[in-house]
Amino acid sequence: MTQNLILGAGLTGLSTAAHAEVDVRVLEATPFIGGKARTRKRPGARFDITGHWLHLRDEQIQHWVEQLPGLTLSRHNRKARIFSSGVYTLYPFQANTYGLPPTVARACLQGFVDARLHDVELGTEAPRRSDPVTFADWIEQKFGSGIAEHFMFPYNEKIWTVHPRELSAAWCESSYIPIPKVEDIIAGAVGASREALGYNTHFLYPDDGGGIEGLAQAIKRTLTVEIECERAVACIDLAKRQVTTVDGEIIGYHKLVSTMALSSLIDACAKGGDLPAEVAQARRLLRSTTVSHLDVLAKGSNHDLEGPWDGSGQPHWVYFPERQFPFYRVGSFSAVEPKMTDGDTRNFYVEIAHRGKRRVEDEVDNCLAGLAEARLIDGVDSVLAVHVEHVPNAYVLQDPNYQTSRTVLLDYLAKHHVLSTGRYGNWEYSAMEDALIHGRKAAQWLNDG
Ligand SMILES: Cc1cc2nc3c(=O)[nH]c(=O)nc-3n(C[C@H](O)[C@H](O)[C@H](O)COP(=O)(O)OP(=O)(O)OC[C@H]3O[C@@H](n4cnc5c(N)ncnc54)[C@H](O)[C@@H]3O)c2cc1C
Repeated sequence: MTQNLILGAGLTGLSTAAHAEVDVRVLEATPFIGGKARTRKRPGARFDITGHWLHLRDEQIQHWVEQLPGLTLSRHNRKARIFSSGVYTLYPFQANTYGLPPTVARACLQGFVDARLHDVELGTEAPRRSDPVTFADWIEQKFGSGIAEHFMFPYNEKIWTVHPRELSAAWCESSYIPIPKVEDIIAGAVGASREALGYNTHFLYPDDGGGIEGLAQAIKRTLTVEIECERAVACIDLAKRQVTTVDGEIIGYHKLVSTMALSSLIDACAKGGDLPAEVAQARRLLRSTTVSHLDVLAKGSNHDLEGPWDGSGQPHWVYFPERQFPFYRVGSFSAVEPKMTDGDTRNFYVEIAHRGKRRVEDEVDNCLAGLAEARLIDGVDSVLAVHVEHVPNAYVLQDPNYQTSRTVLLDYLAKHHVLSTGRYGNWEYSAMEDALIHGRKAAQWLNDG
């Protein structure tokens, strides 16, 4: 019997199953549901797979999430900071230079003014700047050389593992990078900025101390279909429309929705039959980073840090652009929801990006020393436990080959009745809400017969 199959029970797969009006089977590789939006229960605390803060903008999805059974979300106003030159400043860096050493603040402000004056002074008669080609061009045009040098270049090189000049400018116009107005930059230089800049000024988070997995569990409660866990698909025969699971079951499908990483999906298809040369080449060109994270439990309760803001408690997360810190970002679950730890403790995620070859296990001492230097923990002796975990394909690299390769692969799959979707299936940079929306669209595709 042929049916519709969904590969993966992360948020995209679960949302697809929840919105589908036709029969589906859901195969999940791991023993767990939730995918990246899962929570690990460790002695004394719960840890999401690094920060997973929920931002909802789509009204329909918002309404759907609100009425999911057994899920209560609290709203939090973002407390994000940057630690550089030994001081804390408010996020985003580009609009908050107050508190930085005067030479740095001046370079940032002057660079920004020069970048903005460039077009104004040239007027409409003079040749305008060409459109940015690389992410580095875009940064320099939008923010100027000072902000580029002191934050945008070093921070982005840490998170993407390559210099912004190796990435394409095409994705930057998304709403993820806040572009402050001139008045915000001026206010931020004199210590009069607003916290609420950018796309994620507030977020939602489960209030029961169980972590973000509560969202996936709540969707699961609405399903009539059983999720088949530990049923990884190893091989896909596109011509015969069949998948083979690792335990050897061959399952025919009418339509296939895959939420596994696009790279792994194509590898599974290659095991089921020869791929056209163009497709094999496009697969080789896909690049992504691995994010390794330290889950850290430390003694002591949440405390405020000194900085140019009115004592508003421990930051939810902090960006670290400087190279002497191995990590690019550190966040605290307990700073958002104290019930994420048991007792008088705090828990953190510490994120390091690389391309799969870095032995992050050897960098734990260095990382803990960095946390102590930034005063996030009360010295390395206050640490009670550390666990290291890895997230492959965490961020896809939008380099000059990205758009073409991705289109070749997605089109090829579509011709074979396969919809590859979700953040990793669609090989994109997106958030949990997008995963829920992808699922809704995938279900429409299934419902359309
Ligand atoms: C470091 C990091 C931080 C993030 N922070 C945030 C945040 O703060 N806010 C936010 O909104 N979003 C955040 N995200 C994004 C968010 O995690 C994703 O948008 C979302 O979880 C994607 O869900 P998905 O279902 O598409 O993919 P996944 O969660 O990856 O689900 C795919 C599922 O497919 C399964 N699978 C894989 N291979 C197979 C196979 N062969 N057979 C069967 N099943 C298979 C996997 O086990 C998994 O369960 C973050 C992501 C990362 C990496």
